[in-house]
Parts: sequence; structure tokens; C-alpha cells
Amino acid sequence: MPSAFLHPFAPPTRSDFITLVRGEGSTVYDDQGRGYLDAMASLWYCNVGHGRTEIADAVSAQMRALATYNTFDPWTNEPAEAVAALVAERAPVDAPRVFLTNSGSEAVDSAIKIARITQHLRGRPDKQLVITREHAYHGVTYGGMAAQGLAPNQAGFGPMVPGFLHVPHHDLEAVARLLTERGDEVAAVIAEPVQGAGGVHPPVPGYLEGLRRLCDQHDALLIADEVICGFGRLGTWFGVERYGVRPDLLTFAKAVTSGYLPLGGVVVGRAVRDALEADPAFVLRHGHTYSGHPTACAAGVANLAIIEREGLVERAEGIGARLGAGLRALAADGEVAEVRGEGAVWAAQLHPDRDANAVRDRMLELGVVARPLWGAMAFCPPLVMTDDELDRCVDALATALR
Ligand code: PLP
Repeated sequence: MPSAFLHPFAPPTRSDFITLVRGEGSTVYDDQGRGYLDAMASLWYCNVGHGRTEIADAVSAQMRALATYNTFDPWTNEPAEAVAALVAERAPVDAPRVFLTNSGSEAVDSAIKIARITQHLRGRPDKQLVITREHAYHGVTYGGMAAQGLAPNQAGFGPMVPGFLHVPHHDLEAVARLLTERGDEVAAVIAEPVQGAGGVHPPVPGYLEGLRRLCDQHDALLIADEVICGFGRLGTWFGVERYGVRPDLLTFAKAVTSGYLPLGGVVVGRAVRDALEADPAFVLRHGHTYSGHPTACAAGVANLAIIEREGLVERAEGIGARLGAGLRALAADGEVAEVRGEGAVWAAQLHPDRDANAVRDRMLELGVVARPLWGAMAFCPPLVMTDDELDRCVDALATALR
């Protein structure tokens, strides 16, 4: 019998879940005392690793002082101001300000709403369409779901929100054509720097730079969805920096707290601010009850201090070099069909006759957590994972395949 808990992204009939009770560094432990090397940083988010008492202490102190209060007009709180300032200082966005949410899906919905109202306030109410890419993952709320390019995640959920134009993921020409034909109607283009949950697809050379150029030519706003790539994953604070691109809006979540508490947000830049701040009588009628939740934001402040102090942004390259080399060696031996990745996020595409779920299950028996995705095994380890641990992750995949 399944328990009362109806799990996300799981068959509702499943009842044999693994109960985790503890985490330390790159390892999580189940209620039988078995350890698992967490090569997925849970769900692409636990960049500082598990068991950080420093974050627990910051959360506890904030809870004792002011556990919660909303930030609607006229309220604010110190952790919300602090985390916004820390994200803004690091974001590759001109004149940044930060809107806060609880999750990546809400960040994406917020970015789309803010992009559309920006065009509206600029006197361009006809510019409401959003261009999005094949293999994109932008979350599960109605906006984020409609924005994604993964049809199985949309099937059966009724009519999608209108206003999205889908393009092949590596095809800049398709975006250029669309903007030539319908640029007057386009509010924004949304793209992950490296597509994550769609199977780990780095951009082809020049792609993101091309999107920036096309957006400028057609007065469209560029939204970088950094929910996975942000906070060091690609060896830079934000993924777009790797490609020298500065978006107008940038969504984040996950590693802003390394998942210790739910937090997300949108960095907005000069183009957006010029519209939002033009008329002092204008009210941004958008926000969540928990936008700027002080305890979640305190977790963010403590987490960002760890990333900074321990040089985890820089460590991502080392992780990528080790993991990438290990996975490429498997490809060279013909064990996997293809290897894709950048920074510290990688995937090995399995041969078509392989069952990725079965490979995942065998790897779990070997004590390693990887994620089956569209016929690939994805790896997105905590940025504290050691070289030895990374080798064990690759070995587990090799053993599972054999
Ligand atoms: N955008 C991207 C790029 C993501 O990878 C995800 C989640 O994996 C989301 C948005 C949705 O975030 P959440 O699951 O926190 O709603």
C-alpha cells in the first residue's frame, strides 16, 4: 500500500521508497544505515554538500529572532535585503535588482510576467510572446510547464498557457526567422545556459551570444534560466558568464540555498527597471506570500558565504575535468553512446537498448545516486565532491552497465 504521501514525479502506485535520514558532505544515508554518494546534489541543487551546521545555525538564529514576515508594502527584513544584495553583486546583469520567490517554477513564471509587463509599460502591449527551446525545462507551474520543451511533462494537463513559440534547441536561424516574422509580438526569449533536466545539453558555440544579439535587434528581453547553472555549477557564479552574455532577466533557485530551504528569484536589469520604475504610482501587483521569507533568506546568506569562502565556484572546473574524463573514457570504450557536459554538470547518453531506470537502480545498489533522463544518466555532484568520490561515481556507472 502506498503511504499518504503522494510523491512528485513518481508512479502513484509505488510504495517502496528509500527513506533518507541523514546527510554529510557528498553522502546521504538511509534508515538502514546505507550510504549513497550523491552524484546529483539531490536534484541539481546541493552545491555545498549535506550536513552544514553553519546553515542550520543561521536558520535557527533567524527563526528565534523573526521566523517569518511578509515583504509586501511596507515590510522588509534584513535577510531578504542581504540575500538580494549578495545575488545582485554577483549577477552578470546591468543595474540589478532581485525579486524573490520560493522555487524555480515561480521564478520562471515571475520572469515571464515581469517581461510582459515591461513591454506593456514601454508602450508595446503587443509584445507578449515568449520564444522557448526544444529540451528546455522551466518547471511545472502552468507558465513554466507551457514554457518547457518536453512534451511528456505537458501531456494530459489540459490546455497550455498560450503565448509560447517553440524552436529547435540549437537552431539560432530558427529564432532569427521567427523574430523577423513576428518580432513585433515577441516579449522575450527564455533559455537555460546549459539545458539541464532536458538531458544536459550545452549550447552550440555562439548560440547564447546570438540570442543576445537577436533580442537586441528586436527589442525582446533575454531571460536566462539559471535555476541549475547558477551559483557555481558552470565554474562561474552564473552560467551565462561562461559565454560572456548579459541577460535582461535571470532566474535562480536551487543552489542559492543549496536547497537547505526553498528560495528562488529573478534578477532584473536596467531594461526592466527603466519600465518598472518610470512611474512612481505604478504598483507591481505580483508576489508570493513567502517572497523574501526571512528564514529561507538567512539560509541563502549562510550558503553563499560557504560557496565564496571555500572557492566552490572555482572547484566546478576540477570536478568537470575529472568527471568528464571518466565519462569520456567510458564512451571511448563503447560503454555509452555519447557524453555531454560543461563545468560540473554532465550526462552520459546510454545506448538505445539500455534501460536507464535499471542502470540507476543498479547504481543505487552500488551506493551512487545518478539520475536517469531521456535515456541518459545525469551527474551534477555537490561542488565539494572529492576526486576519489567522482571516480567512484564513474566506476559505479561502468559496473552497472557491465
Ligand atoms: N528552471 C530550470 C532550468 C530547472 O532546472 C528547474 C528545476 O529543475 C526549474 C526551472 C523549476 O524549479 P522548481 O522545481 O524549483 O520549481
